[in-house]
Amino acid sequence: MAGTLTNLLGMSRSQLEAFLESLGEKPFRAVQLQKWIHQQGVIDFDAMSNISKALRDKLKQVAEIRPPRIRESFSAADGCYKWIVEVESGSGVEMVYIPEAGRGTLCISSQAGCSLDCSFCATGKQGFNSDLTAAEIIGQLWLANRELDSFGQRMPRRITNVVLMGMGEPLLNFDNVMNAISLMMEDNCYGLSKRRVTISTSGVVPAIRRLHEFTDASLALSLHAPNDALRNELVPLNRRYPISEVLDAVKGYLERLPDSRVATIEYILIAGVNDHRQHARELAALLRDVPCKINLIPFNPFDGSEYARSSNSAISTFRKMLLDAGYTVTIRTTRGDEIGAACGQLVGQVDDRTRRSARYLAQREAAAEAVPVTVR
Ligand code: SAH
Ligand code: SF4
Repeated sequence: MAGTLTNLLGMSRSQLEAFLESLGEKPFRAVQLQKWIHQQGVIDFDAMSNISKALRDKLKQVAEIRPPRIRESFSAADGCYKWIVEVESGSGVEMVYIPEAGRGTLCISSQAGCSLDCSFCATGKQGFNSDLTAAEIIGQLWLANRELDSFGQRMPRRITNVVLMGMGEPLLNFDNVMNAISLMMEDNCYGLSKRRVTISTSGVVPAIRRLHEFTDASLALSLHAPNDALRNELVPLNRRYPISEVLDAVKGYLERLPDSRVATIEYILIAGVNDHRQHARELAALLRDVPCKINLIPFNPFDGSEYARSSNSAISTFRKMLLDAGYTVTIRTTRGDEIGAACGQLVGQVDDRTRRSARYLAQREAAAEAVPVTVR
C-alpha cells in the first residue's frame, strides 16, 4: 500500500544497511539494491535477479522504490531537455539537461519554491512551498537517466555533471541535499566525481561553514553584487550574512578541500543595476584573494519583474574588465530563455493554472527552438 511503504530511493548506503538489518538481513544487500536502483534503473523488486525470492517478497511487504512523476517534458532540437517534476507536496519543480561538447549537465531543484525572495528570481516570487525529500532530489537524476535512456550504459555517459541550480536554496534543505549528493558520488550508484557535482548557494553562512563535514562537492556562490548596499537589495539574505562573512566561509570550505578547486562566482547582469564599469572594478577588487572563476549570467526576464537584461555591449565590457584583472570568466546565455538555466520561470507559469494554456503553448514553441550558447 502506497504511503505505508518505506521508499528506498533516497536512502544513503548506511541508511539502507540499517533498514536491511532491521529486517534481519545482511547489510551487504544494500550494495546490491543500490546497484539495481541507481545503476540499472530497476524499481521492481522482482526484476532483481541476484536477490532471493524470500527477500524480494519481504521487501515488497514493507518497501518500495518510488521516483517522483514527470508532469511535462520539453525537448529542443539541439538535445536540451526540460522536465517539470511533480513532488509529493503537489508542486512542480524544474530540471534541465544541457549537452555540450564532452559533457552533459543536469540542473536539478532542491526545494519547491524558495523562501529567500531574491529580487530578480521567479522562484523567489513564488514563495516557499516545500523541501524536497532526498528521494525527490536523487529522483530527478534517476528520472533524467531513464528519460535519456542511459541506465546500464558504459562510457560515454550522458550525464557527467549535476548542478543544484534549479529551484530552491540547497543549503536550507541541508540533510536531504547531503544524502542525495552522497548517492550521486557513490560508486555503486552514479559515481560522479566531486568536481562534477556543484551546490549553488545564495550564501547561507552557517551551512557553508559545516559543509566540509558532509561533502567535498564543488561550490558556486550567487554573489550578484560587489558591495553590501546593492546585495542587500538583490539578495535579502545578505542583510543577515554580509559579503565579507560569505566570502570568508567560501574560502574556508575551499581551504579544507584536498585538491586545488576554485569556487564559481555567479553574477547576474541586470541593466543599470549591477552592470556598470564601477561594479566590475569593485568586483575585481573584492575577489582578489578568493580562488574562483566568474560566471556572468545575463538576467533572464519573467512576467512581473521590473528588471531588464544588460545590453550586449555592457556584458562584453564587464567581461573584459574582469578578464583584464586576471579572472577566468564565462558567460552563460541561451537563445530561448524559456528552456534555459534561469530558475523558476516555466514552473511559475505552469503552476498558474488560471492563465496556463496560452502561455504554456507559447513556451513550448519557444522551448523547441532553444539552443544554449556558451561564450567564453
Ligand atoms: N538558491 C540557489 C540555487 C538556485 S538559483 C542560489 O541562489 O544560488 C540558481 C541560479 O539561477 C542562481 O545563480 C540564481 O541567481 C540564478 N537566477 C535566478 N533568477 C534568475 C534570472 N531571472 N535570470 C538569470 N539567472 C537567475
Ligand atoms: Fe532562492 Fe536562489 Fe532564487 Fe534567491 S536566486 S530566491 S536563493 S532560488
